[in-house]
Amino acid sequence: MTIQILPEILIAQIAAGEVVERPASVIKELLENALDAEATSIHVAVKGGGRGLIRISDNGSGIRADEAEVAFVRHATSKLRTVEDLERIMTLGFRGEALSSIAAVSQLNITTRHRDETTGTQLRIEGGVVVHRQAVGAPAGTVISVENLFYNTPARLKFLKAESTEKRHITHLLTRYAMAYPQVRFTLEQDGREMLRTSGSGELADVVVQVLGLESFKQMLPVEVQSLEVPKVTVWGYTSEPSLYRADRNQISLFVNGRWVSDSKLSYAVVQAYHGVLREARYPVTVLMVALPPNEVDVNVHPTKAEVRFRDANAVFATVQRGVRTAIISAGGRVESSPIHADADYNKGGWGREQIRQPEMGLIVEDDGRLPQSYRKDYPETETAIPEGIGRPVRPRTLPLLRVVGQVGATYIIAEGPAGLYLIDQHAAHHRVLYEALLEGDFDVMALETPQAVDLAPKQAKLLEKHLTTFTDCGFDIALFGTNTFQIRAIPQMLSRAELRDVLRVIVEDFGQRDAVEAVRLRVSQYGAAKSGQVLNQEDMQGIIRRLERAREPLKDPFDRPTLLHMTGDQLARQFGR
Ligand code: ADP
Ligand code: MG
Repeated sequence: MTIQILPEILIAQIAAGEVVERPASVIKELLENALDAEATSIHVAVKGGGRGLIRISDNGSGIRADEAEVAFVRHATSKLRTVEDLERIMTLGFRGEALSSIAAVSQLNITTRHRDETTGTQLRIEGGVVVHRQAVGAPAGTVISVENLFYNTPARLKFLKAESTEKRHITHLLTRYAMAYPQVRFTLEQDGREMLRTSGSGELADVVVQVLGLESFKQMLPVEVQSLEVPKVTVWGYTSEPSLYRADRNQISLFVNGRWVSDSKLSYAVVQAYHGVLREARYPVTVLMVALPPNEVDVNVHPTKAEVRFRDANAVFATVQRGVRTAIISAGGRVESSPIHADADYNKGGWGREQIRQPEMGLIVEDDGRLPQSYRKDYPETETAIPEGIGRPVRPRTLPLLRVVGQVGATYIIAEGPAGLYLIDQHAAHHRVLYEALLEGDFDVMALETPQAVDLAPKQAKLLEKHLTTFTDCGFDIALFGTNTFQIRAIPQMLSRAELRDVLRVIVEDFGQRDAVEAVRLRVSQYGAAKSGQVLNQEDMQGIIRRLERAREPLKDPFDRPTLLHMTGDQLARQFGR
């Protein structure tokens, strides 16, 4: 044969082999793209273990109409410009290989609309060739449907494993990403069956419960640790008590700067931390997030980006190991003294054991149990700093992690915590949470589409006028409109369902009795809070509880009334004469 340069399509097919090995790798790449596009909701539907159909819908940025085709060209990326960028990469993708590879070995439809544009684009690509294009109406975001994967690469098709194996890989993959991005709502459907649904609450704990189940989660210990020296390495997550283990390492999930990695040395660091605690050939269930400055880690080791290289591997391993070890030791303190029988000590589940572990816990956790909320992708100016939001908790925890069980009388929320039962007054708790949000300026403002006019009695109107700036400070946009009439143009979001006239009147009446700002905060949060007698769905309740867990004063509402009643496992047992 003479020497010839291969046609572009064939090059793409060959290259595709590196990136897309199996259906799960297609899904991984498309998931990463959706996450890079800052989607907050990602839906994955799969048929036949991915061979029939893979469809991923996201509500991310979308692709501009004039860039839709170029996105499928090899080495086309919006995430990297210079080689220096590699040093500070905070996106999951950067090689510009995924879309072209997937398109080369499948038949694919994409519908995408960029959030700044009014019309979307639809493309049909078969074996890497665009066969159809049209402008369409579509919600902002991207939907990619991959059909007949590997239809034109019979060799690859032959090597695919049984459908059930591929299905398992896909579910495993989705659950890992769901854990790495608790702030994103994920759903996975396989052959019409829902396999995973996460709430997007932002709490790793919530996803771990959704993925592992509550029973397992009860046997998980929080890990949170920072390196003692530079480089700054932060590690957080959960690792199992010795009572919960597996026969292989598949349940040790590690994420580095939001990237799911398979690093055998890192997982060995975890396994080693269980030395003397878990018997041989037993492995923990572990979910750990590792955050470190991007220039400390090389992610460009392999096309699938599942491997990473650390500049200072020892620092990372040592921090991981110390974090896990500390969690195990502080859980019982007994693990080291009686390693062989450790399992027996931990066999009993439930609240009783938690009581032993933290005898003085009561309501307030001494250790603030801080867990970082989420990754933020913006990269800071200084190269050595860990990006804002990574490894830094939003607020310290003041209550233990509570799981919402249900609502009673449309007034109280029942929750279960490590130390027993909690009965929470939904209005009082929500009032507290919103009050602190106002106090800290951590709330949303909503512009009213049609400004609302409110008139007040002359005396009240005077007072309101005098304190207009106080209202402005709390998110209002109010202007005097006529005699005793005001025009409201913006309000704190929390008041979106409140009767504004009532709120303003009550606030103004309060002005005589307390400090003006205090009156505004107190009443706005009160009127914004869920009412007693209001039916709440699971998500609403979860939302209130999650924020209460990090309130400064979670036990009292702003009027100093209790927000919750607590019964320990012991108290309950006593009541039942057990
Ligand atoms: P990479 O992710 O390495 O940049 P890809 O081939 O995966 O390469 O994607 C190419 C480009 O297409 C991305 O850089 C991005 O600009 C765009 N893109 C791909 N998927 C999406 C998506 N779901 N939403 C928005 N843009 C996307
Ligand atoms: Mg990509």
